Amino acid sequence: MAGKVVEIENLVKRYRDLVALDHLNLAVGEGEIFGLLGPNGSGKTTAINCILALLRFDKGSVKVFGRQMQPNLYEIKKQIGVVLQNVAVFEELTVQENIEYFCSLYVQDKRLRKQYVEEAIVFSGLVDFRKFYPKKLSGGLLRRLNIACGIAHKPKLIILDEPTVAVDPQSRNRILEGIKELNRQGATVIYTSHYMEEVEQICSQIAILDKGRCIAAGTKEELKCMIKMGEKIHVEAAGLKPSQLEEIRSLRHVYQVEEKEGMLEIRCSGGKHNLVHILEYFAKQDIPFGRVYSELPTLNDVFLEITGKELRDSAALQA
Ligand code: ADP
Ligand code: MG
Repeated sequence: MAGKVVEIENLVKRYRDLVALDHLNLAVGEGEIFGLLGPNGSGKTTAINCILALLRFDKGSVKVFGRQMQPNLYEIKKQIGVVLQNVAVFEELTVQENIEYFCSLYVQDKRLRKQYVEEAIVFSGLVDFRKFYPKKLSGGLLRRLNIACGIAHKPKLIILDEPTVAVDPQSRNRILEGIKELNRQGATVIYTSHYMEEVEQICSQIAILDKGRCIAAGTKEELKCMIKMGEKIHVEAAGLKPSQLEEIRSLRHVYQVEEKEGMLEIRCSGGKHNLVHILEYFAKQDIPFGRVYSELPTLNDVFLEITGKELRDSAALQA
């Protein structure tokens, strides 16, 4: 089995009375794209800052590449590439100069550095913008510059904190594809986001955070198997009687029926042919219906079942 790149045990971080990390446990294996998924305020950035030893914590331990992380542990730090949530580049330097600057902190050999900077520019799609100053860049391009600065030195571990927030779809896709490419080239990646779709799309392992705790971890398939819901069936139908809703609820595998704006949302535990049984009931009762579709669980359903809250909504509210 591949070694652990990051190991967090029982990590507690308080900001005065607020417990931002509450006995957090995480283990990131070599070669993974590890997703930290959680709503705003769940402790993602705090966890990242603790991994990087940018922040003192109250309890627990953080190991990176098998070493207890310390603020002055430079031999470990130089193997880490960081893309922080808030874009941090120099306004006085051009795109290329910014990347050169950050790369020069790690790579002393001039020729190698030149090659790495060029590769980062191409990789980030910034070839046409290399002479631009940051204030002339769109939000998406600025994010890409921020990433280029963090990864130009080819670190073994890359940590990206919400790199796609407020980014146009084109840049977003480019960023997500870029992360997969860096991983293919051998980097272990830690990726935080409150967008479950992104995390599902690129992450090989996922930890779901809520209130500073890891409430579930595994592959997306494993996470979806942890919950009762196996399928969610939507039927466009209005005006059903309470007795009919009750009867649907008593069908095999059905455990929850909700009516939302003319759509019935019927949650079923595993099992096959749920849709057939439900539509048979509609036919027998002669209830008219419109659109019908079935959905497999999403990570939002996992979050909802474990915490009782929507991942999406809680994130959107605070975005
Ligand atoms: P996330 O990155 O998941 O949005 P954060 O790690 O930024 O979450 O925040 C976790 C919790 O800690 C939140 O309740 C936030 O308000 C609080 N917090 C974060 N930074 C500070 C700080 N410097 N001082 C006080 N509270 C903070
Ligand atoms: Mg954050």
